[in-house]
Amino acid sequence: MRYISTRGGGDPMPFADALLTGLAADGGLLLPESFPSIADELPAWRSLSYAGIAQRLFGLYADDMPSEEVRACVAGAFATFDHPDVVPLKDLGDCRLLELFHGPTLSFKDLALQVLGRLFERVLAARGRRMNILGATSGDTGSAAIHGVRGREGIGIFVLFPHGRVTPLQELQMTTVTDANVHCLAIDGSFDDCQEIVKALFGDLPFKEAHALGAVNSINWARVLVQMAHYIHCALHAEKPAVFSVPTGNFGNIFAGIAARRMGVPIDRFVLATNENDTLARFFQTGVFGRNPVRRTISPSMDIQIASNFERFLYLRLGQDADRVRAFLADFASNGQARLDDGEPPGAGIVATAIDTETTLATIRDVYAASGYIADPHTAVGIAAARRAAPSPATGASTPICLATAHPAKFPDAVRNAIGRAARHPALTRLQGAKAKRTLLPADLATVRRYVSDHAV
Ligand SMILES: *Cc1c(COP(=O)(O)O)cnc(C)c1O
Repeated sequence: MRYISTRGGGDPMPFADALLTGLAADGGLLLPESFPSIADELPAWRSLSYAGIAQRLFGLYADDMPSEEVRACVAGAFATFDHPDVVPLKDLGDCRLLELFHGPTLSFKDLALQVLGRLFERVLAARGRRMNILGATSGDTGSAAIHGVRGREGIGIFVLFPHGRVTPLQELQMTTVTDANVHCLAIDGSFDDCQEIVKALFGDLPFKEAHALGAVNSINWARVLVQMAHYIHCALHAEKPAVFSVPTGNFGNIFAGIAARRMGVPIDRFVLATNENDTLARFFQTGVFGRNPVRRTISPSMDIQIASNFERFLYLRLGQDADRVRAFLADFASNGQARLDDGEPPGAGIVATAIDTETTLATIRDVYAASGYIADPHTAVGIAAARRAAPSPATGASTPICLATAHPAKFPDAVRNAIGRAARHPALTRLQGAKAKRTLLPADLATVRRYVSDHAV
């Protein structure tokens, strides 16, 4: 399989290059040249475990990787999960919950990042290369990336976060990883200061080359690839074409589902759920993609207006025509909005809705009262959206499957607000009082630059 840019530039590249490259050289996102149909092989796929499906997907989309290596990466990744099914399905009556949070940091990001860290290690070793991952986090994604690469050969990771401005739990999930290749940098400044410094270091090309700087952001194709597995596994065990409700931020998780459907997996529709940051919900309702300010909510991993994976959807929606993608993006860049104007619905089989904070809290409360289940705020956004927008099972439609993207113990304040008590998880309880390692640095480019060059692998 070869990978091409959504903006049409550059030569097609194999999977291993797409893995290390992340973003295409022309600023576009990488996509496979085709989505092979598995419609004729569904019975064979149905007999596979979740990890088995992930391996088969790599066989199709990463055929330049030795299959033994892929097998080891996938098996090692999911062995870190605390549930034998990796992604167990729970029945709540009016919906089912696909729990994606059984990995080391209790969010769905572990699914992809546990695999990714292992793949990076293999590909870098095969090429005699190394990589220093650099990123800024306002709290949540940093820890999954850190846990994905901790202790891996040939990889260093530097995560900048604003000192005193991430929650104590979020900070502990990062700083209690004491492996020598992990560097948590508490910056005396804001999240924007952290991002500025990271951007400046990536923009310093001699420095970037000298230390082989890399990123593990949500646009990496391999992350999408891993995430296709949970849709396929779940849809193949449903009695009817599946309906998935997906709490959405950067559009990575739901795009994986859309890609799975293109492969012939029986999925009836997607409910795209946003919080008050509703740019995507409005796009799928109206065909207009407009710039809006970001608002802070109780589902912070979805506090995103311009979803980084949206361009992948756009490319498919615009008939895989890179010229039309570039025109749409140019329009957006100059006018702050762009619209689809071909008279077709924005997304076939995608219904979208935005859920406000009050409804999110009420949903956590309702679900708990009805079933004793505690949903985290992100998951609750998806449940509320399914209740509002999914076709009723009474009409013969499939019971919606809501993706549960985080364990509720990660968001004690919101959960306590909703039901008067917090959820617990032993992995988080253990962090209190565990040995922590972090370095306090001023919000100063030269100081951070020196720290990275002194500690890079
Ligand atoms: C990242 C994340 C999301 C959003 O997923 P995208 O792939 O960015 O759309 C939802 N919930 C949680 C808990 C997350 O960490």
